[in-house]
Amino acid sequence: MSTPNAPRTPTDAPESGPEHSGSDVFDRIAGSGSVRRTLTGAAAAARALTAGRASGDGAPTGAAGAGMTHSWLFTGPPGSGRSVAALAFAAALVCGDPGVIGCGRCMACRTALAGTHADVIHVVPHELSIGVKLMRDVIRDASKRPTTADWRVVVIEDADRLSDAAANALLKTVEEPPERTVIILCAPSTDPRDIAITLRSRCRHVYIPTPAIPDVARILVHELGVTEGDAKLAAAASAGHIGRARNLVRSTAAQQRRAQMLGLARLVYEGDLAFREVTNLIRTIETEAGETLDALDERETEKLAVALGLGAKGKGTVKALRGTRTEIRELEERQKRRRTRYLRDALDLSLVDLAGLYRDALLTSSGAQEVQRIHPDMAEIVDKLAELNTAEALVACLDAVTRCREALGQSVRPIVAMDALVGRLRKACGVS
Ligand SMILES: [Zn+2]
Repeated sequence: MSTPNAPRTPTDAPESGPEHSGSDVFDRIAGSGSVRRTLTGAAAAARALTAGRASGDGAPTGAAGAGMTHSWLFTGPPGSGRSVAALAFAAALVCGDPGVIGCGRCMACRTALAGTHADVIHVVPHELSIGVKLMRDVIRDASKRPTTADWRVVVIEDADRLSDAAANALLKTVEEPPERTVIILCAPSTDPRDIAITLRSRCRHVYIPTPAIPDVARILVHELGVTEGDAKLAAAASAGHIGRARNLVRSTAAQQRRAQMLGLARLVYEGDLAFREVTNLIRTIETEAGETLDALDERETEKLAVALGLGAKGKGTVKALRGTRTEIRELEERQKRRRTRYLRDALDLSLVDLAGLYRDALLTSSGAQEVQRIHPDMAEIVDKLAELNTAEALVACLDAVTRCREALGQSVRPIVAMDALVGRLRKACGVS
């Protein structure tokens, strides 16, 4: 979970790359014009509401805020850009630009999009369930008046993971949000049934569809300033999943992970090399997990130490406390579970990459010409696989990947599941 950090200083470079003129935060939302229209309208209504109050003209809440809703539910399939849409909406609500609502350039917009605005609470669960304790903390923060902006915005990712108790705790806040608070629940679902009906029925629902691949490429160019070629490749390789595409163009660890996983398809023909590469691949993901989670772990531990009155500052002090207090031990166990989950999720996504490679090979071997390849940069290996294998063999490879993903889902150790995968791929390709 990222909690509101101190706002960045104005000298900080913008998080989102190049300055773009004539565009706003809603440009980050792919395709769907109706989502943009809904959110732009709501942000304008919110602005009118606060402006009416500020000027003391006594505009009644109902009239000025006709298009404004306090509680929202954003759903859409994984990768459709729910979080991006939620953060864009949050930015528009806290934006300080007098002209363009959600200008994307002011400090408030930039910090909101980066998840560091003091009035934007961004809850990103890294575990399977969001507990009631965390939700009570969030509710407490949500009830405070905004500090610098007109609105306090709470974005809860993966709200389908709210435990029953947590959902119940949240219910009253969603039903009657504090005057200046907006709550956005996000859920990775094509329909909102995963969300408790009590919560769902009190929210305005926005469905965000999966964007087309060219749309994703356009957003990457716009947002990160990468070349069109890199953007197109990442968009295709991620099958239009915006978050993964963004990660792929930005993170060298993610690029390395992809190369290693796809490389397995070639290494199964090279004796024991594929088995050895599996170990390297898992190590790469552990490094990637470290890049993402080390700093977060440390912040949480320090925060807890301070809350416990231990006044600990710095890694050494926290280390010395390790194992001495139940609370710290519990936190460490949670952090360990989060890391395990990260590893499994990353491995699963990489296996989807590998399945894409065999799919490309299968389509090539069946002579399909006009199909968009998932991995256009891997033509050499795809053509080789298509040449060496029958369609049946390639289907068996796809099946092996599916079985490996299932095993991981059933908590089989990653190294065991991956070794079994290599064994099955070798068999399917007739090399063992
Ligand atoms: Zn702004």
